[in-house]
Amino acid sequence: MSEEKLDVIVVGGGPAGAIAAYLLAEAGLETVLFERGNTCGSKNVTGGRIYTHSLARVFPDFALTAPLERPVSREAVSFITADKLVTVDLDNPAWGATADHSYTVRRVSLDGWLADRAEAAGAMIINGIRVDDLIMENGAVCGVIAGGDEMRSNAVIIAEGVNPMLARRAGLLSGDLNPAQTAVGVKMVVSMESKEIESRFHLRPGEGMAQLLVGDCSKGVPGGGFIYTNKESVALGIIFTIAELVKSGVSVPDAIESFRAHPGIAPLLSGGKAIEYSAHLVPEGGWSMKPRLYGDGVLVAGDTAGFVLNCGYMVRGIDLAITSGRLAAETVIGAKSIENFSAAALAAYEQKVLDSHIGLDLKTFEKVPRFLEDTPAMFSAYPALAADLLTDLFTARGGKPERIRSLAARHIGKAGWLRLIRDGLKGVRAL
Ligand SMILES: Cc1cc2nc3c(=O)[nH]c(=O)nc-3n(C[C@H](O)[C@H](O)[C@H](O)COP(=O)(O)OP(=O)(O)OC[C@H]3O[C@@H](n4cnc5c(N)ncnc54)[C@H](O)[C@@H]3O)c2cc1C
Repeated sequence: MSEEKLDVIVVGGGPAGAIAAYLLAEAGLETVLFERGNTCGSKNVTGGRIYTHSLARVFPDFALTAPLERPVSREAVSFITADKLVTVDLDNPAWGATADHSYTVRRVSLDGWLADRAEAAGAMIINGIRVDDLIMENGAVCGVIAGGDEMRSNAVIIAEGVNPMLARRAGLLSGDLNPAQTAVGVKMVVSMESKEIESRFHLRPGEGMAQLLVGDCSKGVPGGGFIYTNKESVALGIIFTIAELVKSGVSVPDAIESFRAHPGIAPLLSGGKAIEYSAHLVPEGGWSMKPRLYGDGVLVAGDTAGFVLNCGYMVRGIDLAITSGRLAAETVIGAKSIENFSAAALAAYEQKVLDSHIGLDLKTFEKVPRFLEDTPAMFSAYPALAADLLTDLFTARGGKPERIRSLAARHIGKAGWLRLIRDGLKGVRAL
């Protein structure tokens, strides 16, 4: 590898790294991106959908050029028990016609496209090589060690994903990942003809659906399920908080099979062929797990910085990764203009993050991860309460009907009035 000093090395070819590399190269900085997978995206997992506001800011033409699956025009959130589903379902045709909401997406296509854009802008993309270590001199990051060689640079942007090994080495955080703040997501993709997807999910041609589910799919473990319709496949999966998963003894493969076989889900997937299984960690602690974002010669972006928002009805990491990749690149471009890559010069990044939607999103929902962790009834008792109450409400037995208020009181009494009031207040405060 070259003896000369580059402007920037980016570690990781996910959305955070690829966007950073694209913008740096566009600005004329000598940029190399290392991705350990054989191609960018080959190791990455998302539910998934992308909220496109941050992509649109970098690529205004993205709706015509990016390899997206379906614009999401149907949003559903469900409580799920062992045999029932209680669903709030929004069908919004306007979202199918415009590009400003969200799209379902396959990471292997999206990440590959982002890397191609970075390469076309002049970045060098090196696939299939892992960065093993950082070159550190007097506490400053001066480059990387990869494939047995050293490569020096003025700045390194670490976008290595959820497991922050290099960020730890740079001294930006210490200790292991906290299992109470980290989740594991498992996903299955089932192939299906486009027309079949549209008929089963009640979709207009070309449009898509996103559904998040809480309850029996994670077998009472804090977490939740998801279903996304792609062009010619359906993705379904479950996310479990690791600390509670370990305590519960729940088998993850059994849980996903049981989710797929649920009476409310199985008819949607019947006849489809499982073509892909994957699993990946998700940082879910929100703002409280944020490491130090910069040091001498180094910045962190995306999942490495803990930038994922899970507020129950919405899971977002890709748009936060893209914004943080953009802000990291803008900070390094500013540092290059004064030829100063010290921590003091790179400190502007923290303020940019705070002022951006990342700071606003994560601060606004700061208390949600703790609320979900401390409210086990959300994952068992409350889905059962909703399903049982509605079952009685919609049943006619031919005798004297029970008044709705006494029906509700009876069911809430079973779940526990005090617990419901306490959790309701906690929920209102968190949301
Ligand atoms: C099951 C699941 C469902 C999700 N659903 C959604 C969703 O629907 N919508 C959403 O917005 N977000 C979702 N997320 C979160 C989202 O996927 C992440 O927040 C996003 O991928 C973060 O992007 P990133 O670029 O920071 O990291 P990543 O996408 O993880 O990319 C990091 C890259 O760095 C590479 N790398 C790591 N170490 C090295 C090294 N030492 N050398 C070289 N390369 C290295 C990896 O191979 C990888 O390509 C989901 C996550 C999971 C696991």
